[in-house]
Parts: sequence; C-alpha cells; structure tokens
Amino acid sequence: MKIDGACYCGEIAFEAEVNPEHVAICHCTDCQTMSGTTFRHIVPTSAEGFCLVSGTPKTYVKTAESGNRRVMAFCANCGTQLWACDEGDDPGRIALRGGTVRQREQLAPKRHLWHRSAQPWLGDIGDLPRIEKQPF
Ligand SMILES: [Zn+2]
Ligand SMILES: [Zn+2]
Repeated sequence: MKIDGACYCGEIAFEAEVNPEHVAICHCTDCQTMSGTTFRHIVPTSAEGFCLVSGTPKTYVKTAESGNRRVMAFCANCGTQLWACDEGDDPGRIALRGGTVRQREQLAPKRHLWHRSAQPWLGDIGDLPRIEKQPF
C-alpha cells in the first residue's frame, strides 16, 4: 500500500510503500517516554520502499535494551517524531510513526509489541464517557 505523510509543520514529508499486515502498537517504555504518551502506532517500511520528499530531520541515536542502536528522526522545527531506523548506510527496517501517516485510519494495528510494559488501564478505556471535542 502506498502512503504519504508529514510532520505537523509540513517541513518534512515522505512517501512509502507499506504492508498493512505489519502495522503494530509498541508498548515499550522507550516508546512511552519518547512519544510522551502511552504507546506508539508503528508502520514499518524498508529503505527501498521509503522516499523522503522534503526536509531533513534531526536525529537522536538511542540504545535499546537489546544493545541495538536506533536512529530516531524528528522535525527540529515542530518536534514531531517521524520514524526510527538503523544506524549507518543501510537504514534497514524503517518504523514510521503512524500519527504522521495521512492514511492512518486504514492502518489498524495487527499486534501488540512489548506488551509486558503496556499500561494496566489500557483495556479499560473503551468504556469511558465520550466527548467529541475538548470539553473546556
Ligand atoms: Zn515539522
Ligand atoms: Zn517501542
């Protein structure tokens, strides 16, 4: 499936070919902290399937629990997190952040990753009162 996306301010834009079957939610604590929220919606693509259309992201290299070093790309202007990839010449598997993908409604996750650190209350939010816009 062909998708496209951009950061909040629009400076960085991309296109990619993705397999909707590979879309996941990641509950690892790195994703919780770096996203500033409860989990990440991850849309994987490959170096061959990815095209940076405009802008140059700022990067931060994190070391995962496994020892893997991953490059975290984000917009230096608006702060939107865009993707993670491997260090060096071969970016390997590129994990796009679902919230930046225009077609995200069609990319329902197929599995939970790092579920051991999922927030214990996540399963309960389906029953909360629903307010369609900001209440105040
Ligand atoms: Zn931006
Ligand atoms: Zn994660």
